[in-house]
Amino acid sequence: MPINIYIKEFQNWLKGVFGLNTIRTALCECITDTLDAYLKDVSPQELKQFFICLDINNISKLKTKVKGRCRVWEWECSHERCNALMGRFVHNHTHSYQLKYKWNKSSNISDDADRRNEHQKFKWRYFKLFKLYMHLDNNYTSLEDLDISHVIKAMRNCKLFYPDGSAEPYDEVLKLRNTVMHSPNNTMELDETLKLLNKTRKLLDCLDIAEKTYYKKAIAELQDLERNDFVLKYRSEESEFIIAKVLEARIVADELHSNIEYNNQLCKSQSKRLQDMLEQIVSSGITTKRGFEMTQAEYKVKVKQAMEQKRKTIALDKIVFDEKSNDYKTLENLERKTEVDIKEMEVKMTRTGLEEMVDVINSLNKELGEKNAKEIGLKKKLKESTKEIENLNTKLEYLEQERKVTSNAI
Ligand SMILES: [Zn+2]
Repeated sequence: MPINIYIKEFQNWLKGVFGLNTIRTALCECITDTLDAYLKDVSPQELKQFFICLDINNISKLKTKVKGRCRVWEWECSHERCNALMGRFVHNHTHSYQLKYKWNKSSNISDDADRRNEHQKFKWRYFKLFKLYMHLDNNYTSLEDLDISHVIKAMRNCKLFYPDGSAEPYDEVLKLRNTVMHSPNNTMELDETLKLLNKTRKLLDCLDIAEKTYYKKAIAELQDLERNDFVLKYRSEESEFIIAKVLEARIVADELHSNIEYNNQLCKSQSKRLQDMLEQIVSSGITTKRGFEMTQAEYKVKVKQAMEQKRKTIALDKIVFDEKSNDYKTLENLERKTEVDIKEMEVKMTRTGLEEMVDVINSLNKELGEKNAKEIGLKKKLKESTKEIENLNTKLEYLEQERKVTSNAI
């Protein structure tokens, strides 16, 4: 089934992706900020030495499969104060008794560190410390590389990120993250989207960061997502022409509706439907509605980015499972389906003008049709009205041709 990027359920899903991105950005800021604040009592000299040692050492996280007392941490630096500071970070691990890690000198890391500017170095050092709380050692080089699930799982492993003492807000967001990223058809019910936006806000609320700029920015973004819908603008010459024609058609439809005898119920409800549909086309084209305003082309770019993010996430989630397991196979199928969706999106991105308009009309028709069928349970009417829309599409194509002929003549 082709994907329909204009229906509400799809846009709910897209909002879910946006919400996750918003909270991820805020959490990344919170991580650097909190770790930095944690070292505020250390003297500048000691801190300088600690950071020098941090730059030339690499953290290797060792797998811990055996439960119980297996703490093995090695720190090659000979400074007593550096050891004490590392010890503080280790003890902030929620399972510090299981923690196994090793520090080893790395030649290329110090080269990299030299090339970074001060701000990059600052962020890089705290990321290195944060890696201590991640489950596995890997090649990530910045917080920004991490998926939201990595960010959350690592924060959950560090006592510094528990002002409220409960892991529940983390688990809730993690669960909803999977609902979004593993959605087979890129759809979500409105309830689920609102739940996600609410839970992400709750997680931020329990981190004791209400005074921070990044908190305020994230909350405003999440509220925007909750209150506003996507409003697509059609700015091409063709679509303006079509909208003008649809406006004319709406006047005719209004007249038609008021002239149909009240006792002719079927015709009356169909003419009402036509009125509603034309109204929706017009309001989605030249709208005074507020919301996430963008052109159709901009919208498609965002949709494609969200799908690419989903594909990347699934690829990442897949590798934790055994290749023969059902979970692995399910995610592998989902990954393939997402690749198909992305290809389809690429085709959609090449469509312009009238084709775009027909896409929207078809989606609106489907949406209106479903609503109607639900309300009165008459699928027959749905078929009839689809025919109506087809006629309208033909008419629009005819008008478009006519326009081309006229503009050529000029
Ligand atoms: Zn040292």
